[in-house]
Amino acid sequence: MTITYDKLFIGGGWTDPSSDRTITVVSASTEEVIGSVAEAQEADVDAAVDAARTAFDDPNGWATWEPARRAEVMERFADAIESRGPDIAQRVSAQNGMPIAISSAFEATFPAALLRYYAGVARNMVTEEQRTGLVAGNTITVRRDPLGVVGAIVPWNFPQSLAAFKYAPALAAGCTMVIKPSPETCLDLGLIADAAAEAGLPAGVINVVPGGREIGAHLVAHPRIDKVAFTGSTAAGRSIAEVCGRLLRPVTLELGGKSAAIILDDADLDLGTVGANLFQNTLLNQGQTCFMGTRVLAPASRYDEVVDTFAALAGSLTIGDALDPGTQIGPMASSTHRDRVEGYIAKGKAEGARLVTGGGRGGQDRGWFVEPTIFADVDNKFTIAQEEIFGPVLSLIKYNDDEEAVRIANDSEFGLGGSVWTQDQARGLGVATRVQTGNIGINGFVPDPSSPFGGVKASGLGQELGPEAVHHYQQIKSIYNT
Ligand code: NAD
Repeated sequence: MTITYDKLFIGGGWTDPSSDRTITVVSASTEEVIGSVAEAQEADVDAAVDAARTAFDDPNGWATWEPARRAEVMERFADAIESRGPDIAQRVSAQNGMPIAISSAFEATFPAALLRYYAGVARNMVTEEQRTGLVAGNTITVRRDPLGVVGAIVPWNFPQSLAAFKYAPALAAGCTMVIKPSPETCLDLGLIADAAAEAGLPAGVINVVPGGREIGAHLVAHPRIDKVAFTGSTAAGRSIAEVCGRLLRPVTLELGGKSAAIILDDADLDLGTVGANLFQNTLLNQGQTCFMGTRVLAPASRYDEVVDTFAALAGSLTIGDALDPGTQIGPMASSTHRDRVEGYIAKGKAEGARLVTGGGRGGQDRGWFVEPTIFADVDNKFTIAQEEIFGPVLSLIKYNDDEEAVRIANDSEFGLGGSVWTQDQARGLGVATRVQTGNIGINGFVPDPSSPFGGVKASGLGQELGPEAVHHYQQIKSIYNT
């Protein structure tokens, strides 16, 4: 059965698109067509921005509500999304190949959890404070007002969570939005649109425009939006930053990564105890997760043991159809992406890295599979250690002491995630503190709603998550009382 959306969610309901062009969505596991979605054109983006603008500018509308009133709607929105959890997991996995165990644990639950968290943030939000001027002793009112209409652009790898990373704090702040999902994953956001309507989100507060990068570019440069929130590749982030720079438009950018998993010489390498965490920090969603530690830094004294551990981990994982609950490694999200990942595997071999395991397609006769692939004897200068592959390909790099491990970790264009593996928390903290990155875990981590998530260097600008994220959707104003 295929899923069809022949209308667009604009202005609080499903409306006719301006053209009959559609996006065909294909299963990454079976290569079969699983749905089709009306493709937004520039006129539809204009209509969506108009709807968001009207909703934002309404003198009694969403932006003017007390945060606690918005929080009530956000909680209803969370309930409506949660009730669609199994469908969300199913659609995400069918589209992008994320193992359904992972989409059920993350994609189906994170959006509602984030909405509830930010509803709580909204309830406690201080949007106005009085200060006494140091010079004149007068009263100055400092306000945090909603920033305006947000253009939110989302990638295909965690389409639900990464959309919620944006709309949950934006709604708490009082913004309205136009969300552009990726063409590869535009079936699942239809469920969010239905949930928004069911929850009574006022018309125009959330609008969805499925389309490719041209439609994204039209949204980014649109004269009637006030802010861009982007997650995606560093290349696209750079071009969006250029446009926003010219327009002096606020932008948050969550971009690519090439994070280091630093195994210290006292690390527990027993897969029975650390295997699940190692998997979650190096190969989750077959490496199509931005904060994965794809450069594994291993101490020379235990190098062979680390190689054996990762070879055993890779070899133990079940490859298969993303909708099979037993699957741990699904396919790449598209054939183009599979080709790209295979190109890096070829490059790794050509540059002299030692292929320990993987490199093939896992014996699958359909779907865009790449086996978990472990390269040893990798020099940090190799292409496979410097460029983001975004697949299940790990580079094992040898180091001699903690100083050198930190130096190699920081010898990267990126600074997004990372992990330090040790039985000594204090030592782990010492190393983690010196790694130039936005997020890092001692013996692994997954992003938590309570704490900011973002990148440094070429991994991005600004943070999502945590109470801090709301500030990116607010405009600060000082009103002087003279
Ligand atoms: P991508 O940059 O190709 O596309 C991301 C989104 O941006 C898509 O919706 C796409 O249509 C749109 N887009 C592309 N170019 C655009 C442009 N010039 N103007 C406006 N919109 C544009 O990325 P992808 O392949 O979909 O996703 C994978 C990338 O996302 C990886 O690099 C990954 O590291 C990154 N990512 C980062 C984070 C993070 O939090 N830092 C999280 C997940 C993914």
